[in-house]
Amino acid sequence: NYSLKQLQQIDAAHHLHPFTDHKELREAGSRIITHANGPFIYDADGTEILDGMAGLWCVNVGYGRDELAEAAYAQMKELPYYNSFFKCSTPTPVLLSKKLAELAPKGVAQVFYGSSGSEANDTALRLVRHFWALEGKPEKNRIISRKMGYHGSTIAGTSLGGMDLMHKQLGGAVPNIVHVMMPYAYELALPGESDHDFGLRAAKAVEDAILEAGADKVAAFIGEPVMGAGGVKIPPMSYWPEVQCICRKYDVLLMLDEVITGYGRTGEWFAAQTFGIEPDTITTAKALTSGYQPLSALLVGDRIAATLVEKGGEFYHGYTYSGHPVACAVALKNLEIMEREGLVDRVKNDTGPYFAQALQERIAGHDLVGEVRSIGLMGAIEIVKDKVTKERFLPAGSAAVTVRDHAIAQGLMLRATGDTMILSPPLIWTRETIDMACARIAKALDLAQADLRK
Ligand code: PLP
Repeated sequence: NYSLKQLQQIDAAHHLHPFTDHKELREAGSRIITHANGPFIYDADGTEILDGMAGLWCVNVGYGRDELAEAAYAQMKELPYYNSFFKCSTPTPVLLSKKLAELAPKGVAQVFYGSSGSEANDTALRLVRHFWALEGKPEKNRIISRKMGYHGSTIAGTSLGGMDLMHKQLGGAVPNIVHVMMPYAYELALPGESDHDFGLRAAKAVEDAILEAGADKVAAFIGEPVMGAGGVKIPPMSYWPEVQCICRKYDVLLMLDEVITGYGRTGEWFAAQTFGIEPDTITTAKALTSGYQPLSALLVGDRIAATLVEKGGEFYHGYTYSGHPVACAVALKNLEIMEREGLVDRVKNDTGPYFAQALQERIAGHDLVGEVRSIGLMGAIEIVKDKVTKERFLPAGSAAVTVRDHAIAQGLMLRATGDTMILSPPLIWTRETIDMACARIAKALDLAQADLRK
């Protein structure tokens, strides 16, 4: 048995972490989470922390679900692995595909599996370009994406994403990807511009990019229905229907990245349903298994699927773990739990509206808060120096880190991205859990205020 100190030393000596400053890690030591139950995680000191992030936006059914462990165990004993290449399959990905086709928006009924959201987006990118090549239009290969979008960390994912800091480290992006403005009214709406009009203007940026390239050169537009890692940026309701209209007008495919929003987060199974749109592809991962197993599913619409069948020929693409039987068994059980407990309806009709109201009534008025916003159980708090002018603290992002550190010390795990605090809790949160979280956020804001305005 290792002590916390020993674990931290070994961690710093041998473990390279994602999205981590390793110099800082050496100095501070990592926070080692050892176990979890329901909505709580516990660190190696035994400290109980309410998990406001569902891990990384994924543990939708909460921790400690024996049924998921049992589903994995049973499948491992029966058949731990076999591949889905070369016309083989195993039962669980077959049954999961059927289930996903039932839950997905109209016209989306085929599934391609991977192990991560990044892999699913790589697949999506290759698939839409393959589709146009099969249609005899290989030059229709440009992808329009958005600034501040996040689509994963592989080279394709980073290229699709619109994060400048990630692009700087890329040393050469996948070609033919362009980025347009994001639909973020708090910073980008013009004085006096309504939310509705701003949404239409942000959609117009997609049309401008299509016209600039020429519609015969544009394969697809990709976006997160609600930008997650970019700061829970919720578009006006006018945005997505207008983007869909533009895509149809120019025969450009519509790709949604629902790696975060898929499986209930916005109060429907998919955010496509929340925003009333019918995309050609939907990338999902994370909450498909509630994070209990690594699994992604790219949901593919009828038009693309029909072309694959009609034209035939192999799509030279796949992963060893595509349709992994154990991961798919866990996904099936996870979706069963979500349905049995009515978690998606609960977000839509109870906890989602209550969460919005609680943030508005208890957090929005704080002196450090410029705006709160949420959709379903996904929320953001903008940290500002001045509520009226929206001026931020310097250096950029430092204030949100101060708030986050106080929140964790108060027993609430949330995330700071730029100057934005993010919440994306497990869907098992109740009104009482939301009350508990808001009390901890309010306390953290007060403590941060004392630090920041010293
Ligand atoms: N797409 C979105 C919208 C995401 O938020 C993420 C991860 O956070 C990804 C893709 C990448 O998923 P993964 O980390 O599983 O590769």
